[in-house]
Amino acid sequence: MTVGADVQEQTVEQRRASAGELFGDLFLGPELASQDAYRSMINTATEVLIREFAASAKPYSGAAPESLLAALERQPVCPEEPSETMSELLNRLGADMLRHSAVVTHPACVAHLHCPPLMASLAAEAWIAASNQSMDSWDQSMAGTMLEEHVMAWLCGLYGLAETGDGVFTSGGTQSNLMGLLLARNHYAAVRWNWNVQQRGLPAASCRLRILCSEEAHFTVKQSAALLGLGEQAVVTIKTDSRHRMRKDDLLLKLKELKGSGLLPFALVATAGTTDFGAIDPLEELAAIARQNGMWFHVDAAYGGALAMSESQRARLRGIEEADSVTVDFHKGFYQPISCGAFLVRDKETFQSIRMSADYLNPESDEEAGVPNLVVKSIQTTRRFDALKLYLSLQHVGGRKFGEMVDHTVRLAQDTAVLIKAEPRLALLAEPELGTVVFRYMPVSRELNDDNSLHWADELNARIRDRLLADGWAVLARTRVWGRQCLKMTLLNPLTESAHTAIIIRKIVEAGLALETEQQAG
Ligand SMILES: *Cc1c(COP(=O)(O)O)cnc(C)c1O
Repeated sequence: MTVGADVQEQTVEQRRASAGELFGDLFLGPELASQDAYRSMINTATEVLIREFAASAKPYSGAAPESLLAALERQPVCPEEPSETMSELLNRLGADMLRHSAVVTHPACVAHLHCPPLMASLAAEAWIAASNQSMDSWDQSMAGTMLEEHVMAWLCGLYGLAETGDGVFTSGGTQSNLMGLLLARNHYAAVRWNWNVQQRGLPAASCRLRILCSEEAHFTVKQSAALLGLGEQAVVTIKTDSRHRMRKDDLLLKLKELKGSGLLPFALVATAGTTDFGAIDPLEELAAIARQNGMWFHVDAAYGGALAMSESQRARLRGIEEADSVTVDFHKGFYQPISCGAFLVRDKETFQSIRMSADYLNPESDEEAGVPNLVVKSIQTTRRFDALKLYLSLQHVGGRKFGEMVDHTVRLAQDTAVLIKAEPRLALLAEPELGTVVFRYMPVSRELNDDNSLHWADELNARIRDRLLADGWAVLARTRVWGRQCLKMTLLNPLTESAHTAIIIRKIVEAGLALETEQQAG
């Protein structure tokens, strides 16, 4: 460096405002002014949220996609200089965006496994965001790491995996299912072939690996197989019975066929709560079959896992304690804000097969010193402190009331099914198992005995759902069952009652009749 550079540096130093002057009002810190600014922002955000979202009279405004985009396009995404105060910004976005959101807290928002979040979890989210702990290493989340491990031990106990079990919070069922099959694949290769997949990649014989699950298992089983290099071809689906549960006889048959053709069934995925019908596969029997055939037993309880909170429903999960791994989602039946899920294993040693070590993050020396770096159990690195919101919710609500909420939604689905059966224009597809009700509008105008009429009935069902969404009366789901378009309510909101579902049913029938009349007129 020359003398000139030195001088230049000094002048820069003199000209520069302090970092605090420049950026101090952007971050929450020790300055009283920044704390006041934070309070005011959070208060305004809360007021706008209550006005534009919580107090909504309908589950959706009915706005079309183009008009929502048009409102946003009035402002550049990143203005060079901001032109609005925080209060103006929040009020504008409240009107342009929040007002046109799916109101998950509304009793008629009944499409998906999309829950209203508990208030306690919202308070926790404020802390999760503000404290911004990262769960990959202990030095980024000291007390947080211990809290997650503490909650995890309780969860393992809840599903009967306490003895040797362990687990980690995940982004949800997709990630948990992937982890289950990842561990299953690595375990099989290590035990059968003395092969370390993590280091050596897939051996040639891996093209013969097969995963078994029911026809109604979640699509992420196939997605996981694809991501794991086994291909969707590795997934063999087993037939379901009239209650949409995996059929044991077909499982045994398929196992025999697979083995007969030299294929290697290494994992059995049971579903505890299918997405459409809430069906629970026979876990105890499947656990035994998996054991007898040397297969990893993974239970996808993303939806049904919440039954464990209910005294009266818990027994329906019997057999889950036999699982090698379990998926459970808290952003469904545990009323947590997205995202929040967990992946549990019966034998904590099985996490060894995905272990990675980085000198900057979790050096081996930490391991020797007993420092818990949770990154070794996760396929994420930077990871949110989602355990906090579940913990605060459990502490605030208590187990009994959690159980009552589960019971309420199961009963509500049954009551709603009774209403549907009493309605001549609607046909119920199956008795509800958990909180979903699947049904179909049957047109008055046509005999349903030819392809054209069936096709028209399909279209009518799809249009009923679209119309109720556009009118904002109800957010309903659709699905196909045996090739036919159906409607679905997913009853997860503990504030929904049968008086609400009765109104939704009436609106569905009214919409169906109106669409039929329009069709005849047109
Ligand atoms: C929701 C769900 C998943 C996927 O979970 P995400 O949290 O959406 O990633 C997997 N399996 C079942 C049975 C589910 O209901």
